[in-house]
Amino acid sequence: MMEIFDVIIVGLGPAGSSTAYQLASRGHRVLALEKEKMPRYKPCGGCLSRKIENILDDDFKPLVEETIYNVILTFQGEGEIRVESKEPIAYMVMRDRFDHFLAQKAAAAGAEVHDNEPVTGIEMRYGEVVVHTKKGTYRAQYLVGADGVNGVVGRALGYGPKRNIAVALEGEANVSPEDLRQLRGTMRLDMGCIPYGYGWVFPKQDHWSLGVGSVKNLARHPGSYYSVFLEEQGLEGKIQQEKRRGYRIPLFAGRGSQITKGRSLLVGDAAALVDPFLGEGIYYAVRSGQLAAGTLHSAMTLDYSDLSGYGKKVAREMFPEFEAAQKVARFAYHFLRMGFTLIKAVPAARESSLEMLRGRLSYVDYWQGLKKNARFGLYEFLNLLKTRHRKAEATYDRVAAQYDTGLFLWKQ
Ligand SMILES: Cc1cc2nc3c(=O)[nH]c(=O)nc-3n(C[C@H](O)[C@H](O)[C@H](O)COP(=O)(O)OP(=O)(O)OC[C@H]3O[C@@H](n4cnc5c(N)ncnc54)[C@H](O)[C@@H]3O)c2cc1C
Repeated sequence: MMEIFDVIIVGLGPAGSSTAYQLASRGHRVLALEKEKMPRYKPCGGCLSRKIENILDDDFKPLVEETIYNVILTFQGEGEIRVESKEPIAYMVMRDRFDHFLAQKAAAAGAEVHDNEPVTGIEMRYGEVVVHTKKGTYRAQYLVGADGVNGVVGRALGYGPKRNIAVALEGEANVSPEDLRQLRGTMRLDMGCIPYGYGWVFPKQDHWSLGVGSVKNLARHPGSYYSVFLEEQGLEGKIQQEKRRGYRIPLFAGRGSQITKGRSLLVGDAAALVDPFLGEGIYYAVRSGQLAAGTLHSAMTLDYSDLSGYGKKVAREMFPEFEAAQKVARFAYHFLRMGFTLIKAVPAARESSLEMLRGRLSYVDYWQGLKKNARFGLYEFLNLLKTRHRKAEATYDRVAAQYDTGLFLWKQ
């Protein structure tokens, strides 16, 4: 007789493993099916902003390859701003090890975990879900789609298409021990190397993770931007060996997308829960898994199959943040030079950016502060704070340069 699970979870990234762990810890019968053999590589910067501490136990810390205290910010490779902090800003992990750890934790809590077993078919029947793989057929009361941006669950069950899919490129680069040492505890971010996005150099234990990503789907072929980024950062000569891979990021594109349907729900990238300013998705993957598990637990305990409560929780907790992040993105990426000048000239803007990265300042509050400080940025940008008599020519050139940047973006 075929065993009937309470919940089948498709995909064992951070979203699927968190859901599985939370449900198994509460005594539910969980089956988690993962396409790849674990541990598996996921193209990702692996940057966990410090707010991850609010939702994960400290046992992930041994996997942290580098704790970030300093940020170096440049504009198209120039005008370096160095921000130093006594407190951690972010934690760097490699996703193969991090995701494997979360999956093992779910298994230790009692979830049945099958890796190397892609889901090939899904049927919604009255009162149950049937899931097919090449190795077997499984039945459950509920189904969780945690299968990422290219997942099968959303498509099989007729969830709408994702509305803003951007492409990012990730490189894993070996560099000399001396270069590794120089970037210990520090991440580099560059604005302007790609339209509506940024480039990054994230230090890991034995290499650097580098990449470029845009929050608009303008840059469909980020390879050329990546090359320019390496050149502007003076990195080409430092890289001894490198592997590159492009991958899609499903950014939040506004309310209205369905994330629950009948006895199923979507979490993480499968539900497009990615911050539309920085492209941060790991935190929201873990958190959505936790929220989903709460709703599923209530549904099973109360014998009440409506999962819409999960959608409401996500809308309440994440959407105001994502909407504020959209506004920050519109401002910051349209007025790149001005945003950069603002960070350079106004210490409060620098500190609040760090607080936002640490997760102690919400995007909602960050946006309010940004609006207040923007006029100082504008004055500084126009050189009005430094000189009484405007240097008309220099000011004109700077405004024109700003215009050109904007024009370039609008033309895309
Ligand atoms: C280049 C790049 C850099 C990024 N950098 C960062 C960063 O620094 N910090 C950050 O927070 N976010 C970053 N992100 C976003 C982050 O990677 C994602 O938001 C995050 O991985 C989402 O987790 P998830 O569990 O929802 O999905 P995933 O991590 O994609 O996991 C989905 C899992 O489902 C499995 N699966 C798919 N189909 C099937 C199937 N048919 N059957 C069974 N299993 C299946 C996949 O194999 C995979 O293991 C980056 C993204 C990209 C592309």
